[in-house]
Amino acid sequence: MKKVELLPFQEYDHIIISESGGKDSMACLFYLLDLGVPPSKLELWHQSVDGGKEDHVELMDWPVTESYVEAVGNHFGIKTSFQWRSGGFFNELMRKDSLTGDVYYCDDGEIFRLPTKGGKKNTRLMWPAMSPDLRKRYCSPYLKIDVFRRVLNNHPRYKEKKILVVTGERREESSNRAKYLETELHTCNSKKRLVHAWRPVIDWNEQQIWDQYEKRRFLPHPAYLLGWNRTSCFGCIFSTADLWAMMREIAPERFAKLVSIEKQLNHTIDTKRISLEEKANLGGLDGLPKDNRLSKWVNMALSHTFTSEDLIMNKWESPAGAFRGNVGGPC
Ligand code: SF4
Repeated sequence: MKKVELLPFQEYDHIIISESGGKDSMACLFYLLDLGVPPSKLELWHQSVDGGKEDHVELMDWPVTESYVEAVGNHFGIKTSFQWRSGGFFNELMRKDSLTGDVYYCDDGEIFRLPTKGGKKNTRLMWPAMSPDLRKRYCSPYLKIDVFRRVLNNHPRYKEKKILVVTGERREESSNRAKYLETELHTCNSKKRLVHAWRPVIDWNEQQIWDQYEKRRFLPHPAYLLGWNRTSCFGCIFSTADLWAMMREIAPERFAKLVSIEKQLNHTIDTKRISLEEKANLGGLDGLPKDNRLSKWVNMALSHTFTSEDLIMNKWESPAGAFRGNVGGPC
């Protein structure tokens, strides 16, 4: 891939921010607004890792994430769309001699299905590998990257248009990401449709990201308030021993569910074959906030409802998860 020159913003028909609710994609949103891109031009697209409302199996994601992203869209008056693979992470994990699930997207309150017709029947019954290789770490492509692409390639509104796709990767996050280009042709680009990919915060450091929150007194995703440095999946396969210990403390039922699936599959999430219970026993709870707001943040993170009114803090406070290193998943 080669670096491309972006068009002036007004020449794009759609500017889509791939919005996880995490700090880097939020910084992209703040930055684009600072640059004067009107909210009416922007769209937030979020891939729901655990599936949609009808086929949701709560397993990996933070319960509050979708509601948080929706509240952000409402706050700024930006259209928010959700996409997912049928049955989410759980269905992909339990796939047995079958095709991967259909992809769905929700648009203006209506749900559309993109059936899976091609590909090979396959059996997973094993956790994705903790590897940068996306063929082994199947969760990122099957639940996020391909879901996004399938919707962009098939949604009638985006045919024969000029589209800018904005994502929040940063070079300081990993040696892999250090090699990413700031701009390039998106993999959904075609002869009939121009799709540019832009990573506007590629060279930002973490301080610059939090500065964007501070100047708006904007409440970060509750995961950061609880001591997570990244808002990826709550049960991300890359979670450190401390994060597993913290999950076991604040959400014992969710932790027990993952432990039970490890036993059922006879396969551990950790590629060194340490069970989740053993790994959590190696971790500690120092990352969790020590003050009396812990239960408030836990309730917020584990709730399915979050309103825009909660987004602006009375006084900015750096969250417990800020500057804790790159703990947690890469996506
Ligand atoms: S956040 Fe972790 S578990 Fe979730 S899709 Fe990404 S790598 Fe997989």
